[in-house]
Amino acid sequence: MDKRTSRFGTLAIHAGQLPDVTTGAIMTPVYQTSTYVQPELGRHLGYEYARTQNPTREALEANVAALEAGASGIAFASGMAALDNVTKLFSAGDHIVCGEGVYGGSYRLFDRVYSRLGLSFTFVDSSDPEAISAAITPRTKLVHVETPTNPMMRLTDLREAVEIAHSRGALLSVDNTFASPYNQRPLESGADIVLHSTTKYLNGHSDMIGGLVVLNDPELHDRLRFLQNAAGGVPGPWDCWLALRGTKTLHLRMKAHNENGMRVAHWLESQSAVERVYYPGLTSHPQHELAARQMTGFGGMISIEMGSLERARRVVENVRLFSLAESLGGVESLIGHPATMTHASVPPERRARLGITDGLVRLSVGVEDVEDLLEDLDRALRTI
Ligand SMILES: *Cc1c(COP(=O)(O)O)cnc(C)c1O
Repeated sequence: MDKRTSRFGTLAIHAGQLPDVTTGAIMTPVYQTSTYVQPELGRHLGYEYARTQNPTREALEANVAALEAGASGIAFASGMAALDNVTKLFSAGDHIVCGEGVYGGSYRLFDRVYSRLGLSFTFVDSSDPEAISAAITPRTKLVHVETPTNPMMRLTDLREAVEIAHSRGALLSVDNTFASPYNQRPLESGADIVLHSTTKYLNGHSDMIGGLVVLNDPELHDRLRFLQNAAGGVPGPWDCWLALRGTKTLHLRMKAHNENGMRVAHWLESQSAVERVYYPGLTSHPQHELAARQMTGFGGMISIEMGSLERARRVVENVRLFSLAESLGGVESLIGHPATMTHASVPPERRARLGITDGLVRLSVGVEDVEDLLEDLDRALRTI
């Protein structure tokens, strides 16, 4: 299989996977082992100890690297472990510029853990290139952004962010969890590091926790691989296998998420009970033009402003098909209340600045029949 000529769906199914050499098994086996027998002193078969190497993990890494159009991937025990490993590239005294709309756990890791260890951070509205530029200092080593952001769906222009970071000697890392590589490939815009919580769209079935980093630079890869082996945040082979099973249908699922997301967003926009719909695929989105240029689809994540906590509660408690839960990106539709759920750890004044009001509701639109999803939302909105 040629990674350079194959198209996305073919890569999703085949990249990184060859039939098992001993049996011909078409599916990559779950190499559930901690160690590997060495045939003689000083010689091994490429595998010594499973913190360092595991064939199931390697298949997942190669698969997602191909989907992100990157040279290599490194899988982690969670999305947070992936970001933690990237942050360990830097040393006390270094400075990181971070988009203020990043995942709450990313903010927490920077603000509560790495700040204590001597790194410094400036959080900026990364949808404004001037704000990124103004925050960069001679000590800045990394610019870290998420686009679209969770839950406000603000976009960062990746090409501009790359240009700004590189012109000032910093790397650009992009958390691409929300878009998935089907809809957006930041390395193609020049980003240095792409991060994923594979827990979300890549796995797509809400049955594991994992993270992944994809890069092009072999030297950066070696440094991250060293750090991973030194610190140990590796995923188990079974979770890698589940993620790898998930990516085989990524193109099919994302196509359905994109279609359902667009239908649901349009429908919500026509409802008088909904004050505002945040979805980059809508022409009413203030950055729709950038979204259309930078993304090839808009996914299943939608946020709506209901106007008050009470009205938001009516929606989340009266749906039956949407499940009230954290997380996103699975085949099943979820609904959440960011202010009390995913973003509860974000200080209230910061939440207010980001626009995460008590009336905000977030939907992860799954791949069910869209008419059923619309009927479900209609029933819940009628209770208001
Ligand atoms: C979930 C998520 C993470 C964290 O990933 P885990 O697998 O839960 O550790 C990071 N970034 C984004 C955008 C996420 O949605």
